[in-house]
Amino acid sequence: MGFGLKEFLSDQDAACPSCGYNLRGLTSQMCPECQEHLVLGVRLAEPKLKAFIATVLGLAVGGGFSAMLLGYVLVDKLARSRGSVPPDFLQAVLPGLIVCGVPLAVLLNGRRTFCRWDGWIRITCAVLAWLLAAGNLLYFTAFVR
Ligand SMILES: [Zn+2]
Repeated sequence: MGFGLKEFLSDQDAACPSCGYNLRGLTSQMCPECQEHLVLGVRLAEPKLKAFIATVLGLAVGGGFSAMLLGYVLVDKLARSRGSVPPDFLQAVLPGLIVCGVPLAVLLNGRRTFCRWDGWIRITCAVLAWLLAAGNLLYFTAFVR
């Protein structure tokens, strides 16, 4: 049995993180209700993920906007066999996809590093992410005219 789990649950109530079943007196490493594997661990009392989530959302909105447009045009071209994607459309969509998508990929791979930064840096990243998303939308709007 996992280190300390049995002892921890021997005399206190604890809800299964998956299904909420009371695990008091558990004798195995599996939740008897949902069959999930359990381990005893350390976690944050109050995770401070607001800036991280705001940054991910901003970049995902910006990059997702371009990805959706590109996906729509590609599916339309494939479904109707109407030749290739016009280069000017790619010029309108690809920069936003790259400018928002690359930092998003880096951020998702480096969440722990992001969370070590000072609060003002994290908030600045969130603001920049949403500015990039807005800039991407404005760039596309200006390009389509
Ligand atoms: Zn459970």
